[in-house]
Amino acid sequence: MKIIADTHTHTLASGHAYSTVWENIQAAKAAGISFLCVTEHCPAMPDGPSQTFFSNLHTIPDVVEGVGVLKGAEVNILDYEGNLDLPDRLLEGLDWVIASYHGPVCPSGTLKQHTQGWIRVAENPHVDVIGHCGDGRYLFDLEQVIPKFKEYGKIVEINAHSFSVRPGAAFNCRQIAQCCARYEVPVVVSSDAHFCMDVGKVEPALRLLEEIGFPERLVLNASHDRFLELVRRKTGRRFL
Ligand SMILES: [Zn+2]
Ligand SMILES: [Zn+2]
Repeated sequence: MKIIADTHTHTLASGHAYSTVWENIQAAKAAGISFLCVTEHCPAMPDGPSQTFFSNLHTIPDVVEGVGVLKGAEVNILDYEGNLDLPDRLLEGLDWVIASYHGPVCPSGTLKQHTQGWIRVAENPHVDVIGHCGDGRYLFDLEQVIPKFKEYGKIVEINAHSFSVRPGAAFNCRQIAQCCARYEVPVVVSSDAHFCMDVGKVEPALRLLEEIGFPERLVLNASHDRFLELVRRKTGRRFL
């Protein structure tokens, strides 16, 4: 399995990342990646960009140097009611919305709270992707939540960066992926790159999926045609 889109990447705008959009695009191109999702952290993150940043993202063309560029965001989930830190009017204008829990914004709570939080996020039509939910600090009830992701058409992210930075991620991601396979929930594999050299680097996540025999047809960014169709359906634009 090989990925053709990196669905979660950061630039200088995220405050604690170190490359530009242009550098990330060049890195994607060099790695043979045909789509790059630009998904900066959002305003509730202490060093995140302001709302204006997101309202002006359309300045970036859909195709740069032959790479399809999706203008998105990694929104913060603020609480266990599923509130997010960008307003709906901005979320509606974005191509790719990942929702994630981050410690500096929403400290971890109980399993029951995390379960409720993810169900609320699942119900939000503006969210496309469930961000790095294998984080051991935010454990939730898989059997309650994963079917909700299916019901509301969410995509679960298997985040390669988690394996090195989020406690328990290797074990949790395996459980999550197995549950996604059981309920036929599609996934994407992403780098969560904070530097251009990491764009497209997803080996630990791909290895995990291969080890458990995860069905390739459910990995949305493992096929050019599958991902292009998803992007066209979601945005109504042609891209490549
Ligand atoms: Zn970050
Ligand atoms: Zn991220």
